[in-house]
Amino acid sequence: MPSRPASPWTAPMPPARPPGDMGLWQLPTGTYSTRAALAVTGGSPFEQRAFAATAVLVRHPLGDLLVDAGFGAAVDEHVAMLARMERPPYHRAGTARAQLEAAGYDFRRLLGVVVTHVHWDHVSGLDSLDAPVWMNSAEAGYGAEDKHGAVYRAVSETTATRSYEMADGPYLGFPASWDVHGDGSVVIAHAGGHTPGSVVVFVALPSGERYGFIGDLTWQLDGITRGAERPWFMRRVADVDPELVRTGLERSIALRDVVHIVPAHDVSAYDPIPRLEQVDPSGTVDA
Ligand SMILES: [Zn+2]
Repeated sequence: MPSRPASPWTAPMPPARPPGDMGLWQLPTGTYSTRAALAVTGGSPFEQRAFAATAVLVRHPLGDLLVDAGFGAAVDEHVAMLARMERPPYHRAGTARAQLEAAGYDFRRLLGVVVTHVHWDHVSGLDSLDAPVWMNSAEAGYGAEDKHGAVYRAVSETTATRSYEMADGPYLGFPASWDVHGDGSVVIAHAGGHTPGSVVVFVALPSGERYGFIGDLTWQLDGITRGAERPWFMRRVADVDPELVRTGLERSIALRDVVHIVPAHDVSAYDPIPRLEQVDPSGTVDA
């Protein structure tokens, strides 16, 4: 049960002028399984949940971004690097790179990969993308030091880093943000707590739809629809600041009528986003 009800967002939405040829595609790279009882308060001890490991391509005429990288070519090695009790059963689909190649994607368009945070299931695919990872200083420090940054440290040996800071002030209830293209179409907002530099990536589309990729503020849509947190023992294990995660979750719940909220690991949350089927060399993308 929610500790406090989240009152819905009623203020005007921040301005956005997304270009007409902007778009969004999902690249599901695999899933891993977690018991529902460990995923969300009130989850059944007998139900296994498939956790999505999905990258999202955000196309923009000034350059494309991926949000998270999913599973990479070396995901077997990455899982083996985890503590034994943290290694889940998992299923691989194609890497983000393989899916982009199959679609004829022009990799010169790709500016980089914005990771919601540096945990293994979000950064593994950096190993095959040959694109810079975009990183804020709080998350870089965590990734360099924390034991849960081991896979990040391994993949970043061969990955360039582009540093950014969130100097654009509050955005949709979150305290700090950065408007990447200057048109309000892609805004990175600070949502620390799961890790110090965790972010939400907000995307505004020409259709008027808005998305919020909230990373691991909650793992599953139950967290939004029921206000359900992680079970207390998983909060202690998984979050560097559980109280701040609760605040970020409440901010996300407040937006659910005006923004498609996508918890990183909820397979069905990606349903409204088309898969990448065909990209012609001129850059036109057909879903
Ligand atoms: Zn995760």
